[in-house]
Amino acid sequence: MARLVMKFGGTSVADIDRIRNVARHVKREVDAGHEVAVVVSAMSGTTNKLVEWCREASSLYDTREYDAVVASGEQVTAGLLAIALEGIGVNARSWQGWQIPILTSNVHGSARIRDIDGAELIQRFKERKEVAVVAGFQGLHKETDRITTLGRGGSDTSAVAIAAAIRADRCDIYTDVDGVYTTDPRVVPRAQRLDKIAYEEMLELASLGAKVMQVRSVELGMVHNVRIFVRSSFDRPEDIDPHKNPPGTLICEEDEIVEQQTVTGIAFSRDEAQISIRQVQDKPGVAAAIFGPLSEANINVDMIVQNVSADGKTTDLTFTVPAADYQRSLDTIAKAKGAIGYTRLDGATDVAKISVIGIGMRSHAGVAAQAFSALAERSINIRAITTSEIKFSLLIDAAFTELAVRTLHSLYGLDKTAP
Ligand code: ASP
Ligand code: MG
Repeated sequence: MARLVMKFGGTSVADIDRIRNVARHVKREVDAGHEVAVVVSAMSGTTNKLVEWCREASSLYDTREYDAVVASGEQVTAGLLAIALEGIGVNARSWQGWQIPILTSNVHGSARIRDIDGAELIQRFKERKEVAVVAGFQGLHKETDRITTLGRGGSDTSAVAIAAAIRADRCDIYTDVDGVYTTDPRVVPRAQRLDKIAYEEMLELASLGAKVMQVRSVELGMVHNVRIFVRSSFDRPEDIDPHKNPPGTLICEEDEIVEQQTVTGIAFSRDEAQISIRQVQDKPGVAAAIFGPLSEANINVDMIVQNVSADGKTTDLTFTVPAADYQRSLDTIAKAKGAIGYTRLDGATDVAKISVIGIGMRSHAGVAAQAFSALAERSINIRAITTSEIKFSLLIDAAFTELAVRTLHSLYGLDKTAP
């Protein structure tokens, strides 16, 4: 017997038929003797619609009321799944965030979970063999007694937090892909599903553009050591052999990964913009004059490169910001021109960031150097580079994104061999 959390995202509960399919998945685990808590998202498209309604009602909406509105999507699916489960003879009860309660901070719209008491759910597993169906994405700020939500994609985080609270053996994330891949299979058809990936690597992949899970959920899994298993929700429950390991990817501690590759995966993002400040005086305080105002404007600066200007006396400073903040960043720098002192400001939004990730890089030198020559052979220019212990990122022209990802994917031996 094991204790499981099963999380189903929006596409898996998109209509009543799919909710019934989810109920059969849950029944399969209950019949196998497991104790189960299910965490559900809103039906796909619902949260977007609710967000839109808030904006339409008033562009300056109160985020406490935004949470009251957007939390309703999960309330519906939790109730419906409990009904579907009871309909096929499985004891079940739905739980809203405030009922458990899932206690959070009061940052409405992106609250953080502070505490969950799992005792009541555990007691109901034991005494009534009852499945808990928990509405994802939502919680309660106790001091003000208001509903909160955890930010878009937050039901992943709800699931991992519930798993930690009830000390589950595993947290299964059922989704519309059957695991985590070495890179996006739509770009590289020879991408492979990973059997296992370490928390740290998954954290980088998720932060750098892979959209499998909310970043915070991976962080939480790492802190509480929750084994997270990403698997497909589209398999028919009847076709799953309970005695075999299903296909999917386990996110776990690195010690559990026996055959560690140097490179595990490649992420990419086109949501980047490059800004270059030309001919800046090379003197103390300049970086502060540039990055101070950007940080005050809440703009997240990522890659930073400094090099000697064409005149040989001053420096050029290049950095990246999220594409959505591009214009705001230019305006912020232009406003601070007096304090910075530069001759020209330019930038580009047709850039992409390619990131190569792998815990094996800690013990292997020269991994990035291989990438530089492979890209040079294909005449792909590198505009900026950053490195850390387990990853490096390269900024290139967006037009070369796919070529660069494919090139590096083969270079590091990630291509699936033809069957
Ligand atoms: N329904 C919420 C969203 O669409 C939370 C989630 O699905 O994870 O962002
Ligand atoms: Mg999601």
